[in-house]
Amino acid sequence: MNHNTFRLPGQPLLIQSIFILALSVSYYIMPAQPAIWKAGVAKINITPDAPMWMAGYAARTSPSQGKIQDLWAKALALEDKDGTRSVLVTLDLVGLPKPISDEIRDLLKQELKLERSQIILNTSHTHSGPVLENALSDIYPLDDQEKRKVSEYSKTFPGKIKDLVVNAFNALQPAKLYSGNGVTRIAVNRRNNIERQLEIHTELEGPNDFAVPVIKVENPAGDLIAIAFGYACHPTVLDTTLWSGDYPGFAQIELEKAHPGAMAMFFQGAGADQNPMPRRSIPLARQYGRTLAAAVDRVLEERMTELEPVFTSDYQEIPLGINPPPTRAELTQYIDSMVPDGYQKRWAQHVRDRIDAGETFAPSYPFPVQAWKLGSQPIFTIGGETVSGYALQLKQIFGFKAFVMGYCNDVVSYIPTALILHEGGYEGCIAQQVYGLTGTWTYDTENQIISHLVEMGKKLGIPLPDHRIFETGK
Ligand SMILES: [Zn+2]
Repeated sequence: MNHNTFRLPGQPLLIQSIFILALSVSYYIMPAQPAIWKAGVAKINITPDAPMWMAGYAARTSPSQGKIQDLWAKALALEDKDGTRSVLVTLDLVGLPKPISDEIRDLLKQELKLERSQIILNTSHTHSGPVLENALSDIYPLDDQEKRKVSEYSKTFPGKIKDLVVNAFNALQPAKLYSGNGVTRIAVNRRNNIERQLEIHTELEGPNDFAVPVIKVENPAGDLIAIAFGYACHPTVLDTTLWSGDYPGFAQIELEKAHPGAMAMFFQGAGADQNPMPRRSIPLARQYGRTLAAAVDRVLEERMTELEPVFTSDYQEIPLGINPPPTRAELTQYIDSMVPDGYQKRWAQHVRDRIDAGETFAPSYPFPVQAWKLGSQPIFTIGGETVSGYALQLKQIFGFKAFVMGYCNDVVSYIPTALILHEGGYEGCIAQQVYGLTGTWTYDTENQIISHLVEMGKKLGIPLPDHRIFETGK
């Protein structure tokens, strides 16, 4: 404002100046409204009403026979100080296939104008949830009746998740956000340690990502609204025919018991090469859940940074290379060497049928990667069953405060590092058959994913830790 040109009508200049001075002083001493987040939460029970086939293991021989605990879909809706919206959805499911994920995100675009960059759909990877259509279809021995149940459950699922997110946005209220990292050592690298020899090992081989990332959401009075927390390890303690969220399910129950009124939601990290060990008992699943909840509580009590109400995000689908399928002759040899009715044999028969039908195979797959910046907190998300090497690399680049989620937006298959591709085995090779891919991932997979996420991080202004060219002697 130019004071010389502003005159109150009919007042001498001196009085006008005093008036303007008083206005200016009152402007500067008036308490400024602190900028604030808005947050809303919602959850829905996604436990199937009737017995249904359970996802994650090829070896089950019957549908579900009851439950240990319910399965949940939970949403944390956020709005920053400028009204930019985002939503984190966590699901007690083994994974979301692309068609269902795309349908959910299309509905959210129509209904709430949310872009894909603003939506994270993370699956816990519990191996005690229902089978979805187009997800690992080759590995389960489903008859027509079971297929129909899977189809019916899958058909209504996207609409349910859209309603869940709408409900979370309808519940928006002023909020403060905090983030921090803890640690717990439930995860064991399952590639580099032999489970049946666990009793005789005195040391365990890595790599692992033991971080426990936590986001705390409070209302302005300091009451907890939501606790979003993660860990990078397969929820494979249990392989029964009872529905459950496995150890993350127990951790969520434990935290909600300890913090009445708050919603606890679990997101899976880059845990594709990690198993909880030992395993296969309900007391162990409960104990790992409690241990994880205790690690979260330690973060809630003493290790959190308040996040400015500023949100930015980016999302891309990058063309990840897929090698050509084996030749017809190789497939025939493979089929002849297999025991009858195994999923590997079924996979090879399908691919051979597709070759015989004259199909050409896509040389790449549109693979989702995403970055969020919640205030100062970087979050990177990767599709597929992401191995720990990705989280460790991103943390080496962006610092160990960064959060890395795997199993986000499209769980297309395992995503090995170059090293795991070289080594082969389940995560490097066999799992691509389990998921119905026609070839293995190409060797630039790791470079592609990391380099795109680094570019996204730079674009969002995620700072790199201080790297000085001169040693400071500290
Ligand atoms: Zn898995």
